[in-house]
Parts: sequence; C-alpha cells; structure tokens
Amino acid sequence: MTRCIFCEIIAGKLPARKVYEDELSVAFWDARPASPIHILIVPKLHVPTLNDIPDHDPLLSHLGCVARKIAMELGVADSGYRLFINVNRGGGQVVFHLHAHLVAGNDVGTFFIHAAIAGSVLWRKLIGLFRGKTRSPHRCLETEAVSGLRATTGPAGLLEKFRATLTS
Ligand code: 5GP
Ligand code: ZN
Repeated sequence: MTRCIFCEIIAGKLPARKVYEDELSVAFWDARPASPIHILIVPKLHVPTLNDIPDHDPLLSHLGCVARKIAMELGVADSGYRLFINVNRGGGQVVFHLHAHLVAGNDVGTFFIHAAIAGSVLWRKLIGLFRGKTRSPHRCLETEAVSGLRATTGPAGLLEKFRATLTS
C-alpha cells in the first residue's frame, strides 16, 4: 500500500485536531478548512473509496451516526450542516482513504459561528480540566448492527470483523 495520510493520523504518526474517536472511526478538523466548521470523519480501516464498501455494511451508518453526534456537539445540528463524500478523482477525491466531510457555517454570520465554536471548544476544555479528561467523553449511539458485532467479538475483534467483511 502506498503512503496514506489518514492511516498515519489514525496511527498517531501525524498530528491532527481530533474531535471524536471510537473503535471504528476517528474524526478530526480538516487541515485546510473550506468553512468555519470542516471536520473529516474517517473509518479506521483503510478503505480507499465509497465504492469499496459492500452492500448493507453497517460502517456507513456508523459514520453517519458519528457525523450527527459531532454536529450536535458543535451546535449546528439544528441550524444545519452538509455531509458529503467525494468519490474518485472525478468526484474530487484527493485522499484515497474513505472519509466524509462535515461542513457548516458558511451561510450564517461567520463571525457568530466562529465565536460559538470557540466558546463551545473552550467550555468543553474547561469541563475536561475539571473532570481530568482531555477529550470529550461522548460516544456515538450505535446502530444495532455495530453493537451486535461488538457483543459477539468484543472491542478488539470489532475492527477485524469489519476487515473480514471488506475482503470477503
Ligand atoms: P477529498 O478531496 O479527498 O475528499 O478531501 C481530502 C481532505 O483532506 C481535504 O479537504 C484536505 O484539506 C484534507 N487533508 C489533506 N491532508 C490532510 C492532513 O494531513 N491533515 C488533515 N487534518 N486534513 C488533511
Ligand atoms: Zn489509509
């Protein structure tokens, strides 16, 4: 496999401003944000494009669930956001490790969005300091399929199970 920037971020070899992480996925701020809010939601497995996900795979709904959760945390779930996946070069994909873009904040007063994000991040950091935690403790409400898999495999086996569904 050629060098993959997102695999390196997942492995902790490259820095990223993470906002969420669980056994299956990680989310972090885009290095070159196109909007006041621009988060990338990335599966931990190296899956090159959306076309490589089998039918009925629960990974996609898990990523959707993570996106929704982050939108709620950043306070844009009600005001609105866009969630999109670029597929292959013609679709604008540059990094060939599947990821969803969560963007928000362009159509509303940008200053207020920046202020709201800064306030929200600061507030969470303060709460984290008091609780002795550095990362937000939230987890995604999981699809039945994902929690069902975890019940049979345990957290360590969950990623392997998904690897198997992709290669079978
Ligand atoms: P694509 O065009 O493949 O759908 O989107 C790739 C995204 O990854 C772009 O928005 C780009 O700014 C972002 N990106 C590329 N390299 C890095 C990096 O090293 N760190 C982060 N956080 N984002 C990156
Ligand atoms: Zn990768």
